[in-house]
Amino acid sequence: MLQQTQVKTVVPYWNRWISALPSVESLAEAAPETVLKLWEGLGYYSRARNLHRAAQLILAQHHGQFPRDFDSVLALPGVGRYTAGAICSIAYDQPTPILDGNVIRVLTRLFGIGANPKEKLTNERLWSFAREFVETAHALPTSRADNTPRCSHLNQSLMELGALICTPQNPRCMECPVRRHCVAHREDRTAELPNLGPRTKATARRFIAFIIERNGRFLVRQRPAGVVNAHLWEFPNAEAKQAATPTAQFAREKLSLALADITPLITIRHSITRYRITLEAHRARWTGRWATKSSTAKTIGRWFIVEDLHKLAFTSAHRKILGKLQPPALTC
Ligand code: SF4
Repeated sequence: MLQQTQVKTVVPYWNRWISALPSVESLAEAAPETVLKLWEGLGYYSRARNLHRAAQLILAQHHGQFPRDFDSVLALPGVGRYTAGAICSIAYDQPTPILDGNVIRVLTRLFGIGANPKEKLTNERLWSFAREFVETAHALPTSRADNTPRCSHLNQSLMELGALICTPQNPRCMECPVRRHCVAHREDRTAELPNLGPRTKATARRFIAFIIERNGRFLVRQRPAGVVNAHLWEFPNAEAKQAATPTAQFAREKLSLALADITPLITIRHSITRYRITLEAHRARWTGRWATKSSTAKTIGRWFIVEDLHKLAFTSAHRKILGKLQPPALTC
C-alpha cells in the first residue's frame, strides 16, 4: 500500500483492509471484487490484484506462511528486487540491499555520482553500494547482549535519511550524520544531483463520459483485463479531441449508444503518470434503442440502481461522478 503512496493516505485503507481480511487465508479466498473494493481510491490497482495472487500462492506453495528467503519472496507476484530486499532486511534482518528514490538520492550525492541513475551501469553501481553498506552492517562484530537488527536499521536509516534530511530540494546538510563524507555537500553539487535527465513532458488528454439513466438504473461497464484500472467499473466514456463536443453523434460513433438530451454534470481533472486528464461527465437520456445492430447490453455494460453502484469498485474519477448522483449517506 505504501508504494508511491503517503502513510497518512494509507492508514484508513490499512485499517479497513486488515479488519476485512485479517489473514493470508482470508485474502487468498476473498472474491476479486471484495479486494478491489477495499483498494478503491488508492490507485495503482495492479498492487491489489498482485497481493491477492500472492496470498493464493503463499497458501498453495508455502503452507500459508510468508516465505523468508529472498528468492521465494522475489517470486511473489508484484514483488521486485527493491520490495524483496526491503522485506528480507526489515522483517528478517537479512543483508539484502534496497534502492528506491530516496536511497538513490542519498547515494548519488554521497558519492558525487553525476551519471543518470536510470542508466543500467550506474543503477547497478548504486545497487552494489547499497549491498556493500548492508553487508558491512551485517558483518560488524556483535556482543551476545547486542540484539540490534542491523540490516533492518541500516536500510531504514538510508530511506529515512533520504525522506527527512537529504530531500530533493534544500537538503538539510547541516543536520546530516554523513555530511563529513558527502561529495555533493563538499563540492556544492546538491542541487544538480541526482541527475534524472530531462523531465517527461505532461500530456493533456480529454475524455467524455455519459451518465445514462433508464427506469432508475444507470449504465456502467467494467474495464477489461490488461488495461489500466482493469476490472474497475466506470460510466461509458471515450477519449475525445479537444475540439469535440459531447453530442448524440459522438456517443453513437464512439460508444454505440443512442442518446438524447445531453447536459453537463461535472468536470473532473486528475493526473495518471504523465497524463493530465480532463473527464467531462454529461447526463443523457436513453432513447430506447441501441445505435447499432451489433450492440447488446452485454457488450456495452450493465444497469444498476444507485445503491448497488455504491457496492462496486470504481476508479477515483468515476466515483466522484457517482457522488453527484446521490449524496453519500451521513455517518455519525
Ligand atoms: S550532506 Fe547533504 S547532500 Fe550529503 S547526504 Fe547529507 S543531506 Fe544529502
